[in-house]
Amino acid sequence: MKTSTTRAKPRAKRPAAKRRRATEGPAERRARLRRIIARLEREFPAAHCALDHGTPLELLVATILSAQCTDARVNLVTPSLFAKYRSAGAYAAADPRVLEREIQSTGFFRNKTKSIIGMAQALVERHGGRVPDTMDALVALPGVGRKTANVVLGNAFGRNEGVVVDTHVQRLSARLDLTGHTEPKKIEQDLMRSVPQDRWILFSHQLIWHGRKICQARRPKCIECNLERLCYSKDKTV
Ligand code: SF4
Repeated sequence: MKTSTTRAKPRAKRPAAKRRRATEGPAERRARLRRIIARLEREFPAAHCALDHGTPLELLVATILSAQCTDARVNLVTPSLFAKYRSAGAYAAADPRVLEREIQSTGFFRNKTKSIIGMAQALVERHGGRVPDTMDALVALPGVGRKTANVVLGNAFGRNEGVVVDTHVQRLSARLDLTGHTEPKKIEQDLMRSVPQDRWILFSHQLIWHGRKICQARRPKCIECNLERLCYSKDKTV
C-alpha cells in the first residue's frame, strides 16, 4: 500500500502592517492617534481653510461652490462674485441665469445657484440677512449640510462644533484606521469621540493638507510621509 506523507501547506506570511492592525488594542490605538495628532501639528502648524473669504456669508457661499470643485478654482470665481453680491439680500434677489453664468466654472452650477439663492432668501427671512452661528440654524438653511456648517462655524466663528469630513478626511481616516465607517456622518462621530474637541477644526485642516500634499488618493507619497510608521493602510506604497 502506497502511503503518502501530507505536508502542511506553508502559511502565507502576514504583512507586518496587517498584523499590527489586528493586534492593536484600544490603549495602543489612542496612543497612536496622539502621535498622529502631534506629527500633523509639527507638519502643518498653520493649516487653515483654503477658501478665500472675509465674512461668514462669503465663506458660506464659497463652501457651497466648493462641492465637487477645487478650492483653487473657487478662489478664482469668488473675488468678482463677492464684489458684486455684498449681502444675503443681493444673492436672494439675483437673476438665476446670471448667477449660473458667473459660477459656471465651479461645476454643478444649476444646483449651486439654487442653493445659494435659496440659502440667501432663508437668511433674509429668518435671520435678518445675517449668517447664524449655531449648528441647528445653519443646517436648517437650504443647501447647507453638516460639512458646510462645520466649515462656517469653525472658520468664521471659531467654534469647534464638529469635524469637517470632506473627501480627504474621509480617505485619510480610513487609511489611518481612525474609523471603520465610510459614511461622513459616522466618520465624524468617530473622530469627535477620539480627537480632543479644541482641535476638531484644526485637525480637519491638517488632515486635508496632508491629503493634498502627501497622502493623495491615487498615489500616496508614503516615502515622504511622517505618519508612515503609524499607518497600516493597504494602500501604502512602501
Ligand atoms: S503612509 Fe502612505 S497611505 Fe499612510 S498616511 Fe502616509 S501617505 Fe497615506
